Amino acid sequence: MSDQLKPCPFCGGKATISVKGLDERSAYAEVVTISCEKSCAQVTRRDDDNPKSSYALSGTGMKAGIAIWNTRPSHASIIAQCAAIARDGCLVPPDGGEPTQAEYEMCQEIAQAIEALTPT
Ligand SMILES: [Zn+2]
Repeated sequence: MSDQLKPCPFCGGKATISVKGLDERSAYAEVVTISCEKSCAQVTRRDDDNPKSSYALSGTGMKAGIAIWNTRPSHASIIAQCAAIARDGCLVPPDGGEPTQAEYEMCQEIAQAIEALTPT
C-alpha cells in the first residue's frame, strides 16, 4: 500500500501507513495515519460513516488519506505562493490608490525574505 505514496513533501523521506481498527461504538471504522518516517508530516483520516448500516464505509479513510497525502504541495511551492502574495497582494493600499515607491519596495523586500526560506 505504501508504494502508492509520494515521498514526504517537506524532507523527501519515505511515507508509511498505519491502520487502527475501532470498535462498535465507532461503527468498526478504521483510522488511517500516513506519516513521514522522520515525523515531519502526518495525515489522519477515518472511514466515513455509512448511513445505511451500523458499519463504517470500509476503505474510505484509506482512499481519502492517500489522496490528501499525495496532493500536498511541496515546501518550495508553498514558499513561492507566499512570496507571490507578498509581492503582488500587498500592493493594494487600503485606500485603493497606487502604492508609494516605499510601499512597493517594502513588498519586494518581504517577498525576497520569504523566498530566502526556500529549502535547498
Ligand atoms: Zn519528512
